[in-house]
Amino acid sequence: MEKVYSKKENCSGCSACYNACPTKAIHMEPDEEGFLYPVIDESQCVDCRKCVNICPLIYEGNYKQKSEPEFLVAKHKSEEVLMSSTSGGAFTALSNAILREGGVIYGVDYDEEFRVLHKRTETVEGRNRMRVSKYVQSNMGNIFQQIQKDLLDKRTVLFTGTPCQAAGLRAYTRYSLLTENLYICDLICHSIPSPLVWEDYKKLLEKEHGGKLTNIQFRSKVIDWSRENSNKTFLYKTSNSEEVHNDERFYKLFFGKKTIMRPSCSECQFTDIHRASDITIADYWGIEKYAPEWMDAKGVSVILVNNEKGAKLLEKCTEELKYEKRPKEESLTEQQRLSEPTKFPEDRGKFWDDYRKHGFEYIVEQLPK
Ligand SMILES: Cc1cc2nc3c(=O)[nH]c(=O)nc-3n(C[C@H](O)[C@H](O)[C@H](O)COP(=O)(O)OP(=O)(O)OC[C@H]3O[C@@H](n4cnc5c(N)ncnc54)[C@H](O)[C@@H]3O)c2cc1C
Repeated sequence: MEKVYSKKENCSGCSACYNACPTKAIHMEPDEEGFLYPVIDESQCVDCRKCVNICPLIYEGNYKQKSEPEFLVAKHKSEEVLMSSTSGGAFTALSNAILREGGVIYGVDYDEEFRVLHKRTETVEGRNRMRVSKYVQSNMGNIFQQIQKDLLDKRTVLFTGTPCQAAGLRAYTRYSLLTENLYICDLICHSIPSPLVWEDYKKLLEKEHGGKLTNIQFRSKVIDWSRENSNKTFLYKTSNSEEVHNDERFYKLFFGKKTIMRPSCSECQFTDIHRASDITIADYWGIEKYAPEWMDAKGVSVILVNNEKGAKLLEKCTEELKYEKRPKEESLTEQQRLSEPTKFPEDRGKFWDDYRKHGFEYIVEQLPK
């Protein structure tokens, strides 16, 4: 076997194949845009085709459920939680329910160099580090194997991640008889930015200010939670001063032209109300129009309850979370990523040519002022 995928658009980098390979013949390697792809070592491959057979982008139906979700508006009751979360704090309520039962949380954190990766935690402190959307594709490592081990040890597990990562976990646990204690939560995801651009961006901030980055805050709520204002505030600090900086270039680069998103995002199979997860969380955009009484400048969540397991998990959150049913049409109107993938700009190829030829700083100089 040569490759797990036929073209880059057909690999989301979920790492299910890497985690599942029985002979460890697969490793994940970054391409020239910094996205991880599976590479097969021919000498170790026994041609069992497990990698291809479980791949969520190849598997018919992509592990999505046929049932339609229930749509809810939700908000955490604690102001402190709202201010520490990207949306309405749904993740904190869901993860607290699992932690209270002695369970384990898998979510996205940083390492000591602010590289973005999936981690495992059993503590509130570890979970708190997973709060806030990090707009960079996370490195999944051997997370699915760790989850499998927890399930074998009869632990309850909550996994959170993008829709393709959630489908990857569904794929990895396809033959497992142990999934009763596994809860899968995904996000509505507009598309996922390049880890290479993130690395170069961090280096630029350190060059401009001196010192090492000590603090990063994506989509801060210092103005408010609205799409417009939270997307203006990328906050960070470096080691040589206590000053908090705000960099408006971040959103122009990371969201603006969608040139730095993973190729598979342009053909995403998961921009659908039929989900691979048990429960889906996101921002309740437009809530001020549909139910102004729910509007809160500190953040409001939409929750899609995708099956009975999702409903069971949500029931455990009533002490912390206020929620109520809403018509699905509201979210279908506001959330494009429930119906179609992100469209890439026609000059994506030129962008990456310029990046390779002239470097990252040239790219930043070209951003609209
Ligand atoms: C790349 C990306 C794109 C998104 N696109 C949309 C969108 O189009 N529309 C929308 O309404 N919402 C989108 N979201 C979701 C939204 O930003 C919030 O993450 C979500 O509402 C949860 O907020 P919260 O207040 O409940 O949780 P928080 O406490 O803010 O927790 C954040 C959660 O996101 C997970 N997470 C953080 N970074 C990543 C990452 N890089 N990859 C995978 N999981 C991550 C954490 O594990 C945690 O579960 C996106 C999130 C990400 C990471």
